[in-house]
Amino acid sequence: MAQLRIGIGRFYHESNSFSTVPATAESFRAPSSNGGTVTGPPMLTQEDRSDEVTGFVDVLGEDAAAEAVPLLNTGTLPSGPVTPDGVRFLEDTLRRQLHRAGPLDGICIALHGAMSATDIDDLDGYLLDVIRQEVGHDLPVVVALDCHAVVTRRMIDLSDAMTAFRTHPHTDLVETGQRAARILLDLLRRGARPVVGHRRLPMLFVDPGTLAGPLKRIFEKIVSWDDRDGVISCSLCPSFPYQDVPEQGWTVLAVTRDDEALAERLADELAEEVWSIRHQLLSPPLVAPDEAVRRAVAVDGAPVVITDSADNVGGGAPGDTTTMLEMLLAMRDQVDGLILAHLPDAGAIARIASAGVGDEVHVAVGARMDTAFSEPLPVTGRVTCVTGGQITNDGRFGNDAMIDIGAAVCLAVDNVRLVLTERVIMGPQPSLFRKVGLEPFDAKIVMLKSTIGYRVTYGHVAKAVIPADCPGAMSANMTHFDFKRVPRPIFPLDPDAAY
Ligand SMILES: [Zn+2]
Repeated sequence: MAQLRIGIGRFYHESNSFSTVPATAESFRAPSSNGGTVTGPPMLTQEDRSDEVTGFVDVLGEDAAAEAVPLLNTGTLPSGPVTPDGVRFLEDTLRRQLHRAGPLDGICIALHGAMSATDIDDLDGYLLDVIRQEVGHDLPVVVALDCHAVVTRRMIDLSDAMTAFRTHPHTDLVETGQRAARILLDLLRRGARPVVGHRRLPMLFVDPGTLAGPLKRIFEKIVSWDDRDGVISCSLCPSFPYQDVPEQGWTVLAVTRDDEALAERLADELAEEVWSIRHQLLSPPLVAPDEAVRRAVAVDGAPVVITDSADNVGGGAPGDTTTMLEMLLAMRDQVDGLILAHLPDAGAIARIASAGVGDEVHVAVGARMDTAFSEPLPVTGRVTCVTGGQITNDGRFGNDAMIDIGAAVCLAVDNVRLVLTERVIMGPQPSLFRKVGLEPFDAKIVMLKSTIGYRVTYGHVAKAVIPADCPGAMSANMTHFDFKRVPRPIFPLDPDAAY
């Protein structure tokens, strides 16, 4: 029997319209904790990675009558939009790999779904269009999505079926890839026509995650629908709210086996339920930076986590704004215990490269990549550690088991410990502080540039979590942003928005 040849690929970038750091061709080429670029057969043997491609390979590898044909796996850390040279790199690599692949029977492709370029709103849809130009419109294409996708009409029209992550923080990349591969094999063997029910909800805010609360219940329901007759896969995409694009909003997708009525009914049911609880899904109000420190001091026990979610690297912010650090330094004498903070700053590291442990250094830190929301902060501190290299990826943010932090130093300013790293680091990693000889769970305050991820690595020990309202490219306070292109009215910017 002839084998089914299935092309597999992945593009992973989340584009924050308010970030000042662009994604260039070099960003995609360079190895990072989101992977760099791998093409062809090495994709099949990347044992230190686990993402949707792993899931595709798992399912296709177990099927004696199917063959995974590796195209490309490319990604870079979330940041600002992709530059024209970045688009050219992605498109050229995709076309070249499709030519090399030869005849295919289907394609499984993983897309973030909220990738845009400086001049292309929907870069994921654009790349699907490139695939269609190369393979035509009859070849089945199944898409695995990050649930923060901003799903567009073009993405729906150019794919046969889509299925999105069901966890936030994302822990089901592999499972989502497996599901997409099974859907594709099923389409190829049964020949059933998938039908997509699609609803866009006028909602624009950071979702509260799926570990607890109302969104957990909704996602459990979505999972339970997998067993219903006629259902291929249902998804809720709470969107990436920092993409200033015309099709912004939360999306419901209900994909059925040739059953239009069922797809429409399930899409309606899910959309109406999510809309009805929209107020419950809003984040708790943010706290001014000085008030955040006062509240942390008042908490009995340690550690207290202060989050600066506006500068979360995982959402495309640079991670080097200085507002919260400035406040922690200013109020340090009110805090009984250590205060830990981290900034990526290759420039500062280079300037104090000759310093050794025990030396006092004067250096301006931070706000080198972020040029919009804060200023470099002059700091005088004593070097307590000079190190570098790898740390474990404690939270499994991104795909790699280990993360390269480059060179790193720890500066002590009285009871403040500021860790500077050459590289940007994905996720709040306790291992980063341990690398410089600090135990973060014993500190009084740990300041993390995190929205939800801290729950994975600090949630079990934090005595309290205080969300600070700092300026930044992904503030949860949506009124801080000057949206020009999202459709209005939209909730909660327009409290009376209707669905
Ligand atoms: Zn996401």
